[in-house]
Amino acid sequence: TTDHRLAVRRRDDLLRRGDAYRLAEKLDAKALRLFGRSLKLRQVSAGGCNGCEADVNVLNTVVFDLGRFGIQFVASPRHADGLLITGPVTKNMVLALEKSHEAVPAPKIVIAVGACAISGGPFAGHAEQSNGADDVLPVDLYIPGCPPHPLTILDGLLRLLDKLPEPSIP
Ligand code: SF4
Repeated sequence: TTDHRLAVRRRDDLLRRGDAYRLAEKLDAKALRLFGRSLKLRQVSAGGCNGCEADVNVLNTVVFDLGRFGIQFVASPRHADGLLITGPVTKNMVLALEKSHEAVPAPKIVIAVGACAISGGPFAGHAEQSNGADDVLPVDLYIPGCPPHPLTILDGLLRLLDKLPEPSIP
């Protein structure tokens, strides 16, 4: 639709400008306060080369020790505050992704990690997949890279929790 094309163009403009972390307007301050000091995420790998998934998994090692920031990955979406998606969302994954999203209690957030999840990445335009997670779900936070460095992912998550100052964009 025209609306969707406009949204994608706006998102691409923001990412080109280096505005790496954008919270959608609908994710209001109340939801952020609710998450407060902890964040539980269900990770969903929805295709791609799995490079992004590997870099997300690195955050659980003792080197990054994600748990010390109050951020944990959980097995069930019912126990999560939101979904963290990697990959361009293949057609086979659409239903599973929608059902996972439904199972997350409100308020729920959606985080797209990597170029594939943001816009399809190198697989954009392929007939068997979506062009990014926001073809299927409303995305609240985009973390760019192919793949993003684990520190970039951590930086995005901490900004979501308001644990880091906003980046200054010239
Ligand atoms: Fe792989 Fe790059 Fe896609 Fe991540 S963004 S899944 S590293 S191709």
